Amino acid sequence: MSQRQTSIMVVDGSEVSRTIIGRILKNEMSNVSITSCANAEEALARLGNWERFDLITTSLMLPDLDGLDLCRKIRASERHYYTPVIVVSGDADSRLLREGFAAGVTDYFDKSSGYKAFVEFIKSFLQRNSGLVGKILYVEDSPTAAAITRRIMEKHGLKIVHVTHAEQALELLEGVSNGWADEEDGFDIIVTDFFLKGKLTGGDLLHAIRTRFHYSQQEMPVLVITVNDNQKKQAEVFHAGANDFVSKPIFEEIFIARIRSLLLIKQQFLALKQQAEEMGRIASTDSLTGVRSKRYLLDNGKRLLAASARNKHPLSALIMDIDHFKKINDLLGHLTGDHVLAGIGELLNQLFPDDTVVRFGGEEFSIIFSNTPPEQAIAHAETLRKQLESLCPANVDVTVSIGVASTIDYPEADITKLLAHADKALYAAKERGRNRVCIAHIEGPQDLPALAS
Ligand code: GH3
Ligand code: MG
Ligand code: MG
Ligand code: MG
Repeated sequence: MSQRQTSIMVVDGSEVSRTIIGRILKNEMSNVSITSCANAEEALARLGNWERFDLITTSLMLPDLDGLDLCRKIRASERHYYTPVIVVSGDADSRLLREGFAAGVTDYFDKSSGYKAFVEFIKSFLQRNSGLVGKILYVEDSPTAAAITRRIMEKHGLKIVHVTHAEQALELLEGVSNGWADEEDGFDIIVTDFFLKGKLTGGDLLHAIRTRFHYSQQEMPVLVITVNDNQKKQAEVFHAGANDFVSKPIFEEIFIARIRSLLLIKQQFLALKQQAEEMGRIASTDSLTGVRSKRYLLDNGKRLLAASARNKHPLSALIMDIDHFKKINDLLGHLTGDHVLAGIGELLNQLFPDDTVVRFGGEEFSIIFSNTPPEQAIAHAETLRKQLESLCPANVDVTVSIGVASTIDYPEADITKLLAHADKALYAAKERGRNRVCIAHIEGPQDLPALAS
């Protein structure tokens, strides 16, 4: 549900007014396009072009036509029947109050309140009445009903995927929930007929949505279309897990109002989910270096190991410690030390975007390479060592010592144990002169074998 562009038509005889209104709307709103028309004739020509607008504003007095007459013409056109029209007048004209509603005026604004107030008015109006954005999975077996209902939904800006059987709907949902389909293939809400010709009814579909896919009413709102005005039957629809129902024949305004409220539920669900993900990301990221926190590793180590085991691939881990880092702090200050750490974190994220890079301790980092045999992890370690040797973060020359361990040599180890083995190898690398890679082995830490070039 991405934010789409809002298009506004401004009809005003005064060029100064048009320019000012257009400019403030553009400044104050994101993603808005303005179409200015100097008179009713121009406006009607644009509307006849099949262009769609989220909102039309017109002044009451136009050079060629009365604003209320323009509104009547807009209401008479099928395509723009639902487009809100706001009339802007110099004062609260009594004619406007008397005739405006019958002419189809959605709302009016008193120009004497000023342009700034006008923009605020438009913004809040659009928030309440914006066109519908969303993708709907629509299940209906009757071709006639489907054609009419689909057209109504599309007219209001909705994207529709129509299927005739619950079985097909389930197949599409299966693809989304299993990750076969792309994210864009997902749906915001489902609209389904209750009676379907296949083996499964709309009720069965609902049941599957709630129990098989475990979609809550917030995550996947469902609107059921029913022919029945029997209240017991309607209660059944709610029982099956519907958010709401409408009865056939469909009455456009009620139908669209219900869809709007279900889309709102979905939007709020997505916003909350996004917020939770963002908070999770912040909590699992080390703020100084931008790599994962140790907390993240402890929370996800088991999962990473299990995934590698499931794929029957080895997992390799390395621990890296900056050589003589204390000297950097002592000679250049703790702040410079921080900059060095940040520079190193940045390089690690760049070099290994798909692996789990973790700040393991003060000046120690670890990287978990899933589905990676030890030879490859050793090659990564050596590349890393060399790159860091020439990185010179914050204008400081640094070298690192690295220890590597793999589940090939330690098949029983959990992440903590595996890293303890890597740490032993790291200790050997420090002992043997620093700025080098050592590999954990059951017979004791080993030096880097000659790498095939
Ligand atoms: P070695 O080659 O044996 O690893 O020597 P070293 O000096 O790097 O080792 P030691 O463990 O004695 O020192 C690590 C230093 O890292 C001590 C600590 O003050 C510093 N340090 C730890 N976290 C941070 C940090 O977030 N910022 C800065 N500037 N320094 C840190
Ligand atoms: Mg039916
Ligand atoms: Mg250390
Ligand atoms: Mg150190």
